Order: sequence, then structure tokens, then C-alpha cells
Amino acid sequence: MSHVVAREKFQAYLASRGLRVTNQRLAIFAAALAQTEHFTAEQLLDQARALDDSVSRATVYRTLPLMTACLLLREVDIGSGEKFYFATSSGATEVAQVVCVDCHKISEINAPFMEWYGSTVALKLGLKPIAQRLQVSAQCIAFHTSGRCPHHRKK
Ligand SMILES: [Zn+2]
Repeated sequence: MSHVVAREKFQAYLASRGLRVTNQRLAIFAAALAQTEHFTAEQLLDQARALDDSVSRATVYRTLPLMTACLLLREVDIGSGEKFYFATSSGATEVAQVVCVDCHKISEINAPFMEWYGSTVALKLGLKPIAQRLQVSAQCIAFHTSGRCPHHRKK
């Protein structure tokens, strides 16, 4: 999905909900789509403020669910109490997350078998799968060999 198509999708979604397209929301949108890694709301706030210093924390927290609802972002919960987001520009929906148990770095990996799994559920139970997720907890190679991950973040 190109940036232009993504923006049209976002603007159409805002319009359909009776929400205005503001400079703040556009800065948040642009900052979110520029991310190549998983990010938190607080990280996005910093990035969006670099584009438009009027961006408020409240607007970031209100805009993230909107972008998630129109499938521009995927919400990733790794059970750490903090929500992560990932720009879905690749368009792949059958993905699994691999999460480092030390630094919580998240990697995405294509998991096309999940489509098969979902359709099997549909066939056997007659239900329509809406979403499914798979997460693998892992140790970085550095963590595995030295007991400390180079990306470790103090909490
Ligand atoms: Zn790690």
C-alpha cells in the first residue's frame, strides 16, 4: 500500500466516523507509517512531535485505535503490559511474532500455515475466524550465549 493510498484510507475512515482530518492526526499518521519496527504510543509521540510539536499525548492515544481499526496498524500484545503497534504496509495478515524474552524485541515472520489453520477451524466448526495470533518466545543469540541481550532496556 502506498503512502497516498494509506492516507486516503485513513481520511475516508475519519470522515466516516465524523472526525476531522487535523494536522495533529496527519503528523501521527505520517510518523506511524515511517516506523519500520514495532513501536509504543510513547515512542510514536516523540516521532510525531518531531513533525508537529503541537501533537498531544491524548491525540496519539486516541489516534492509534483509529489507525488500527482501518487496518493501517496492527496491535501487538506481548503480555508486557505495554501495547506495541506495527505498520501493516507489507499487507501480510498471516504473521507470527517472535519475542525476545530479555529485551522484548519483536520480530515478525510470515506464517502462511495460519490461513490453513483458520480455514480448518471454519470447516470443522462452521465458524468464521476473525483473527488469530501466534507468538513465539525466544532468546536472542547474544542472550543465549552471554546471558545478556545487547538491546536490553531497563524498566
Ligand atoms: Zn533480545
